[in-house]
Amino acid sequence: GQEQQDGEEYLFKIVLIGDSAVGKSNLLSRFARNEFDSNSKATIGVEFQTQAVEIDGKEVKAQIWDTAGQERFRAVTSAYYRGAVGALVVYDITRRSSFDSVKRWLDELSIHCDTAVARMLVGNKCDLENIRDVSTEEGKSLAEEEGLFFMETSALDATNVQTAFEIVIREIHNNIS
Ligand code: GDP
Ligand code: MG
Repeated sequence: GQEQQDGEEYLFKIVLIGDSAVGKSNLLSRFARNEFDSNSKATIGVEFQTQAVEIDGKEVKAQIWDTAGQERFRAVTSAYYRGAVGALVVYDITRRSSFDSVKRWLDELSIHCDTAVARMLVGNKCDLENIRDVSTEEGKSLAEEEGLFFMETSALDATNVQTAFEIVIREIHNNIS
């Protein structure tokens, strides 16, 4: 969860959720290491990565949690959500079923996190415009209905990845200060 030390340092837990293969792990590797893996089977062995971001001249540390593929079996545990103050709910703009799952992920999030969690709806793979299956408008209106921030991203070409994480981190920071 969030920790405050000397009134100066913050650590925010942020979870990545969404169907398997929407690009969660690649969004994290793009954000934290500026890397992209085209081989989806390359499971990153760590459960989270910590990334420092500067907000209003203060260093904020985001501890971003990634699943190890357990979402495939609908078996993301409560430990994964525990203490989260932010969430990126990711779908793949080329796969409608992943968009249809968003509500289920939001329900799961609200079951496990009773506090106000800063939430961003992320339509990933926007580099694949030619095979788009979910319009930007649909994403926007779902986000409005559910009271979420919204952004389309590409972990492949880095479009909006930094921005998406930073908006969530800034919102968490605003919520507590
Ligand atoms: P996860 O299961 O949600 O963690 O998804 P991964 O990060 O493992 O990505 C699943 C597959 O989608 C991999 O083959 C990635 O290379 C690919 N992928 C992820 N993000 C993007 C993206 O922004 N654009 C494209 N074209 N492919 C992506
Ligand atoms: Mg993954």
